[in-house]
Amino acid sequence: MPFSRLGLPPPIVKGVRAVGYTDPTPIQIKAIPIVLGGHDLIGAAQTGTGKTAAFVLPILARLMKGNPALRALVLVPTRELAAQVETNARDYARFTQLRAGVVFGGVPIGPQERMLRHEGVDLLVATPGRLLDLHGRQSVSLDDIEVLVLDEADRMVDMGFAPDLRRILRLLPVRRQTLMFSATMPPELNRVATEALRQPQRVDLAPPSRPAAGITQAIYPVSRHLKTELLDQVLLGEGVSSAIVFTRTKRGADRLTRSLQRRGHSVAALHGDRSQGQREKALADLKRGRVQVLVATDIASRGIDVEDISHVINFDVPHTPEDYVHRIGRTGRVQAVGDAFTLMSPEEKKDVAAIERFLGRSIPRVMVPDFDYHQAGAREGGREDSPRSRGGDRRDGRSVNERGGRPRGGGSGARKNGARGTDRPRPATSGSPSYAPSAEPADSHGRRRKRDAPSRRRRRL
Ligand code: AMP
Repeated sequence: MPFSRLGLPPPIVKGVRAVGYTDPTPIQIKAIPIVLGGHDLIGAAQTGTGKTAAFVLPILARLMKGNPALRALVLVPTRELAAQVETNARDYARFTQLRAGVVFGGVPIGPQERMLRHEGVDLLVATPGRLLDLHGRQSVSLDDIEVLVLDEADRMVDMGFAPDLRRILRLLPVRRQTLMFSATMPPELNRVATEALRQPQRVDLAPPSRPAAGITQAIYPVSRHLKTELLDQVLLGEGVSSAIVFTRTKRGADRLTRSLQRRGHSVAALHGDRSQGQREKALADLKRGRVQVLVATDIASRGIDVEDISHVINFDVPHTPEDYVHRIGRTGRVQAVGDAFTLMSPEEKKDVAAIERFLGRSIPRVMVPDFDYHQAGAREGGREDSPRSRGGDRRDGRSVNERGGRPRGGGSGARKNGARGTDRPRPATSGSPSYAPSAEPADSHGRRRKRDAPSRRRRRL
């Protein structure tokens, strides 16, 4: 069934085609008509099923009718998901006049306030804490919200956001459409759902069939000489419980292994000339938590089946798009979800552009808050002197939308009556750093976190 038969307006169908989708996924076929019909919805679907387009596309269709104002709100648990959802929304909306924006914690709030006040957005993707902060500072009005989405709702509750969700619900108009997507339904979430949704329709989804579909991807732009330092920070991030880090060469893998060990990580290297047995033992150590990180080359990873790897990190951008797909296929295997991050130096922009062309879509750019991108060089071995704080207060941050697009004048109030701007921001392109996000909640102690608690690991349906 083509997208055009789902009742979506032509500019949205055109946007979807431009992204490279030919047919809707099962959740899209089921959910889009329900959402277009104005019903509340509970989607038992995990990342990888195409759930983002399942709610974003009909929401954009709705937003195309009516005046510009902040009318749709998508709440997500993490900055990476926030960045991904907003990137998708921009891609799908590229042939409309609609604007999407994103806010999340861990970075200064000022640029987000300016974005909300002066540019205005129709659809906002937000993490709950930062949204409440912005609302407390009267930088955002939620009075016009018509559609609320709780995305990866179980993970939000897992991460302690239930009270924030309740506070946000109280700030929203009672008459609205609410959509909730969640792989599981823990009791706490059930309570939130009862408060948030009115006679919801349910869509239950089989797990994704394509292995690579369950992966949240992000690009971390950084100078070559700061990659190790940045990787060190990324490995301390929320939910990084077991990671495979890819380097292009064996020597590079050895060097990186030593550097990470000096910084206090538990790391094993997967050498290309090791036997299958040795490689499998290294992977078993990773899976059982005896080591947190495996540093591997492409060759070493071939033929090895890994489940429950939370992160694949490309320390070097792979030479070919096929290698990229193969590498990130190490996470997000059938039924699983995972994150795939790529550290990209300016010299590697071309390789990333080739990957994005191959994938047919852009990958969100992410900056690590509190990371000194201007420092002179990586410090081998020293970790005490590098700030570990992820912002202390998880709400004390910002996200930056640096993709350009001139203000269309006035605050959100002014926009209601004002003319819609014509200078649309372009969809993300490779090489345009777009976000300065942070995971939230942050580690308020600013210390190395213990391995992830099981509750933080993503669960399956
Ligand atoms: P999601 O579950 O929303 O995270 O989507 C998983 C992946 O599937 C993302 O990379 C989407 O770009 C992709 N995707 C979503 N819908 C479609 C579709 N109809 N056809 C092909 N790929 C899709």
